[in-house]
Parts: sequence; C-alpha cells; structure tokens
Amino acid sequence: MRYVSTRGTAPELGFCDVLLAGLATDGGLYVPEVWPPLPDLSDVRSYAEAAAAVMAPFVGDEIPHDTFSKLCNDAYATFRHDAVVPLVQIGNDEWLLEQFHGPTLAFKDVALQLLGRLFDHVLSQRGQRVTIIGATSGDTGSAAIDAVKDCANVDIVILYPAGRTSAVQRRQMTTVDSPNVHTAAVEGNFDDCQDLVKAMFNDAAFRDRMGLSAVNSINWARVMAQIVYYVTACRSLRATADAGVTFSVPTGNFGNVLSGWIAREMGAPINDFIVASNSNDIMTRFINDNDMSARTVTPTVSPSMDIQVSSNFERLLFEINDRDGAMTAEQLRRFRHAGSLHIEADQVARWITPVFRAARFDDAATVAEIRRVYESSGQLIDPHTATGTAAVHALDATRDGRPVVTLATAHPAKFPEAVQQATGILPSLPMHMADIFDRVERINLVSNDLAAVQAFVEAAVTRH
Ligand SMILES: *Cc1c(COP(=O)(O)O)cnc(C)c1O
Repeated sequence: MRYVSTRGTAPELGFCDVLLAGLATDGGLYVPEVWPPLPDLSDVRSYAEAAAAVMAPFVGDEIPHDTFSKLCNDAYATFRHDAVVPLVQIGNDEWLLEQFHGPTLAFKDVALQLLGRLFDHVLSQRGQRVTIIGATSGDTGSAAIDAVKDCANVDIVILYPAGRTSAVQRRQMTTVDSPNVHTAAVEGNFDDCQDLVKAMFNDAAFRDRMGLSAVNSINWARVMAQIVYYVTACRSLRATADAGVTFSVPTGNFGNVLSGWIAREMGAPINDFIVASNSNDIMTRFINDNDMSARTVTPTVSPSMDIQVSSNFERLLFEINDRDGAMTAEQLRRFRHAGSLHIEADQVARWITPVFRAARFDDAATVAEIRRVYESSGQLIDPHTATGTAAVHALDATRDGRPVVTLATAHPAKFPEAVQQATGILPSLPMHMADIFDRVERINLVSNDLAAVQAFVEAAVTRH
C-alpha cells in the first residue's frame, strides 16, 4: 500500500514512513492510494484478531503479519474489558459503544496504545530514536504518555496549560514514573502550548537535533486504528447492508467520525453518521447549513471537543474533490486567509447530505442529557458521550428501527463534576486508578517562552 498527500505534492510513502512522518512535507495529510475492501472476518474471535485483519491491507508487507498481530495483541491486552470496545444497550435499538476501558479512560487509548508499539517496533528496526512532542488540553497527553512509557526508542515531552486541565487529567500525566516521560506545565493556555510545539517543529536545527516527532490526531495510523471498532460493532449487532447501523459520534477534530466513514467505504454495513458537537459547532454548521467558518473557541464541559478547526476534515475534503490535491491545497489556503471554506451545493448533496446528520448542544443541554440517560437506563455517561446520545434523541434517529450506536468516548469518572451536577452521583474511578490522588506528582512549571521550553526539552531528553 502506498500513501499520497491530500495536497498533492509530497512524495508517496509506505506505511512505516507515514507513521513516523505524521504530517506530509507539503503540509497535507497522508491517505492510502485506495480504500481496500474489508477482509473476511468469519474466523475472527477477538478484538485484537479483528484489528490485525482489518488493518493488514494498510500496513501491507512493511511489517510481517505475525509481528503486527502481536503488536495488536499487546496493545489491546492493556484494556480492562475482554471485548476491548464493548456495546451496552441503553434503549430500544439504541446502544453505547464503550471506548473508555483503556489505561487513561478515553477513546484516544484505542489508537495510541497501538501507535506507541508501532513506533517502538519501527524505530528499533531502523536503529533510530525520536522525541515525541505534543500539546494537550487533557486526554491526548495522558493517552500518549501511557502508550510510550515503556518504549526504549522514544522520549516524550507533553506541554499542558498550568491550572487548566482537570485534576484527573493532570495526575494521569504527572504521576507516570518513567525516565523517558517528561511533562511541562506552561504558564499560558492551550493555544500557547500548541504555538510552542509548532515553533519547535519550525526550528529546523532544533527539530533535527532532538529528532522531533508527533502523534497528534492527524497521524494516519491513529485514524486507521479507529476503523476497527466500527467494524466489530456492526458484527456484534449482526448488521446487514439493508439494515445498516447509524453511528452518533461526539466530534472535535473529525478523526473519530472520519474513521467510521472509511469503514463504510470499505464495506461495513453502516447507514449513516450523526456528528454531535458542543457549542464549538463548526462541523454541525457545515453539515446542516454548508457554513464552514471558524469562530473563537468557547470552553465547555466537554473540553476534548473544544476545537474550532477540525483538521481531519481535510481527508474527506480530498475525497469530495475527487482526490485533486492542488484543489484541496487551494481551498485550505483560502480557508486560512478568509476563515471560511466554500463547498459547491452539488458536492454537499453528493457527499455530505446522504451520509451525515448533525446537532449541537450547549452545556445546559449536555448536563440535562446526562440526567435523562441516567433516568431512562441507569447508565452514567460523560459530557462528551452526552452530546452523542442527545443528538440521537433530538433527531429521533431510532425512528426507523435501525440499530443506533453512540460512541461513548470517555469514562464518566474522567469528568466527575458534570456527572455529579446532573445526577447527584459522583462516578468512581476504576480500580487501577483509584489511588491516583495518592501518587507522587512531578510538576515542572515552565514559562510561556520558546527559549525556556526548548531548554527544558533539551535538558529532559539528554538527562537520562
Ligand atoms: C478526542 C475526543 C473527542 C473528539 O474526537 P475527534 O476525533 O477529535 O473528533 C471526543 N470525546 C473525547 C472524550 C475525546 O477525548
């Protein structure tokens, strides 16, 4: 399998180079040159086996299949549920797909546990080391740290805004005791952290000296790993082409829902998708009103969806443009300048309307929804998941009797305040994390200044 850039001018690469590169050199995102059909899964017995089979055509012959299967086994053995990503029924024809049984309690673990192992494997084959740098508002940082904490060939440095993550999120990062894990509490906000990361990548001498790499949500391997649970959910529900599943997806960067769209292209029996947003509703405005214009980010009770530009949408845009990279690059250049993206009405009618519905919910509606689901099913759900079930309810998506599945993207105990406000119940952390408030934290306060952060990274990575 070869990979092409959505902006058309970067060199074609194989899987391992795409994995390590993250972004293409023309600023685009890598996608496979074709969408392969789903393999026959009739003999598959476990999630890890399904994962190895579904992803095999994307990896090609770059990693021996036995090795790749073992990496999948190891990655999904870290989940605390035998089904890895299990379904739970919450209503007639209505299910939750629980994606939070991994080490850090959010859906990011599903992709990142595999990504860490893929990085370590490829780097050791090549005799290379990298320093992964990332900025986080909470979930990605802890999931990335957990994924690479035992990797011999990876150092990781995560920047987070001091005082602006939840206590659980911060402690999941600062209590990990591994010599290759480093965190910096930046005296600024999340955008400052992201700007510092970008500036470090743009400093070519620093980038090459430190061997900088990234595992953010535009990395193709993350999108790839997320295809699997759409396929296994359809299988568990015995879905058929005539009675395909509707998936409701709490959406920020458009990575999770894009993976579902790919599963559908590969032949999974999926009817359509509901894109659920919080007040940061750029994707909902686009799907409902063909208005893709960036606004300022509003903080909400579902912080992992507080995003104003959904970067993974670029991969769908490339398809809408019949894989014309030059046209995609030009549209994105205009989007950056004008702050809005225009897509022709006939393209929307062909690509968007038949496959996507959307709805948005503010904090009050989200909290009310947590209460409604608790009262109707006894399930506690987190505020991200609540936007998804609220959209199912608002659009009356179970009306035609198809199975409707909301992706439960985080464990309720990761966002306890909203859950307690809604239900009066303080959700408890799973056992492996029950002592997180007793563990020793290592907090490194760093000023919001490029030179200071670079000095921190250099010292942290060379010290051990
Ligand atoms: C990252 C995240 C999302 C958003 O997923 P995207 O792939 O960015 O659309 C939703 N919910 C939770 C809990 C997350 O961590």
